[in-house]
Amino acid sequence: MVSASHTRTPSILSRYNQAMRRLMCVTAHPDDEAGGFGGSLRLYRDRGVETCVLCLTPGQAATYRGAARTDQELAALRRKEFAASCEVLQVSRGIILDYADGQLHRLDVYNVVREVTRYVRELRPQVVLTFGPEGAVTAHPDHSMASVFTTLAVQWAGRSNRYPDHFNDGLAPYRVQKLYYGTANFTLLERQPISPSPITAVIDISQYLETKIAAFHAHASQAPLFPIFENTIRQRGPNEMFHLAAVSSPGSIRQETDLFDGIQED
Ligand SMILES: [Zn+2]
Repeated sequence: MVSASHTRTPSILSRYNQAMRRLMCVTAHPDDEAGGFGGSLRLYRDRGVETCVLCLTPGQAATYRGAARTDQELAALRRKEFAASCEVLQVSRGIILDYADGQLHRLDVYNVVREVTRYVRELRPQVVLTFGPEGAVTAHPDHSMASVFTTLAVQWAGRSNRYPDHFNDGLAPYRVQKLYYGTANFTLLERQPISPSPITAVIDISQYLETKIAAFHAHASQAPLFPIFENTIRQRGPNEMFHLAAVSSPGSIRQETDLFDGIQED
């Protein structure tokens, strides 16, 4: 049985300055925020959007471990690297939970979704980003599970009959307006096969390409990955691609260049 032993912040709202537009990104490992979403995180921050990254594990099962001798040491190291990356991306709030890296598929779905739902209800993002269920180009099962947990949390956060105990703490049902899966226009031959979500939004991050790479480089324990990451990023062009997976107002799909297109501010 894998369990989360972290303690939650009693009230995020009390020290969270809520902007008009809010973006939440749910990832699995420290470095996902930079590699998967870094350009968009920084771009929307520069546009005045409050950004939150919720990372489900401290990455303690990574292949590359720096000077860490134990999983605990690696987790501590990677929490610092995550904070440094969030600084580069100017993320308003970076949160790492304490679930076990590599084991997300073994967790109790209802309990993990409870926790993600709670963050959605507290932070009230209009737009949520996560991986697609294929697990991104790396096909990592933790990425797939982050997608599953987040997809359910986005749907359930708006319902009065899901986790009603949250409402005793002053929270209310909250409806996210758009859920996007990160996706790509390529696959990696050396990895397991994936069936990615079709691209419905392309975000031009050309201004932020170097920032994205710098944020990835903040994860110094993962230095052996830097050359392949940088090559891939530079070869694939200055875009981040997304699939619009859910909307609060039903409608047909169309191609987008702005994740906040059509968003109603509150
Ligand atoms: Zn990852």
